[in-house]
Amino acid sequence: MIIVMRNGASNEELVAVEERIKELGYKPHVIHGDTRNVVGAVGDERGKAILQSLESMPGVENVVPILKPYKLASKEVKLERTTVVIAPGVAVGGDRLVVMAGPCAVESEEQILETAHAVKAAGATVLRGGAFKPRSSPYSFQGMEEEGLKLLAMAREETGLPIVTEVVNPRDVDLVAKYADVMQVGARNVQNFALLKMLGKIDKPILLKRGMSTTIQEFLMSAEYILSEGNQRVILCERGIRTFETATRNTLDISAIPVLQEQTHLPIIIDPSHATGHSSLVPSMCYASVAAGCDGLIVEVHPHPEVAVSDGPQSLRPADFKAMMDKLAEFAKVVGKKL
Ligand code: PEP
Ligand code: MN
Repeated sequence: MIIVMRNGASNEELVAVEERIKELGYKPHVIHGDTRNVVGAVGDERGKAILQSLESMPGVENVVPILKPYKLASKEVKLERTTVVIAPGVAVGGDRLVVMAGPCAVESEEQILETAHAVKAAGATVLRGGAFKPRSSPYSFQGMEEEGLKLLAMAREETGLPIVTEVVNPRDVDLVAKYADVMQVGARNVQNFALLKMLGKIDKPILLKRGMSTTIQEFLMSAEYILSEGNQRVILCERGIRTFETATRNTLDISAIPVLQEQTHLPIIIDPSHATGHSSLVPSMCYASVAAGCDGLIVEVHPHPEVAVSDGPQSLRPADFKAMMDKLAEFAKVVGKKL
């Protein structure tokens, strides 16, 4: 249910509403609007009619049901678009496109530092790199783990770029959070509800990737798991879905951008690297995504893709990344955004 407060309702009235929601066994989430506040009351759907009684409390204008199955992620609760601050001066969802770039996996000190400097010089504002890798084969490289996290922290120290890195296992949440500025949930973990709930309790932005077989509604329900635990800093990432097509690794669902914008206030970024699987296809998908209205991109870049331990074929060389970024600035202008 959404409890819409009157324009000018006092803070005491708001607090009283929150308390009453808790007494009734629901969780209140206050969303501060420009002219009025609303309180989302979420919990067991079955007894929610009891929340209608809040309508007679002082300061309450009305109580309306949230029709979508996802509540806090929906535009019914919050019309204004959410901006997720990653670091001072770096926010996803504003009028500046955020480009995250770096290797699929952290491989060595030289590799991550060289890449970090190169992507920064080209205009990226966040460094990506996996220290824990969710690989399809148990025999493939699984990541440098904490050693990799330390190298990412070193690259942040040297370049000032905040880092986004994946947490694969709920037991590693605290460890990854010690180093990461943004915690990434990979496509394979989009419905790992235990992991999502843990990430909902920490004070870090979460980059939630869409699963390869996840519908948009399921994707938003996964975001809801994080939001409902209290963490409001969720960034959605479309990274390609499985179709019958084999010419590309996945099929980039560009229409997910406007569809999500109709359904949610959360920011949306695109991963053209995992979507296509081929570096030659990455730039055009970056331009198309920006044209379709995304808030940012996450792109794999490797100084020597031919010797990359993972995802070499889809990784851009630094010079190609730079050329892509220069052209991207033109597309950004067309949609009224800055790079
Ligand atoms: C990654 O970003 O390196 C990754 C494994 O992506 P995805 O979860 O989208 O496959
Ligand atoms: Mn990868």
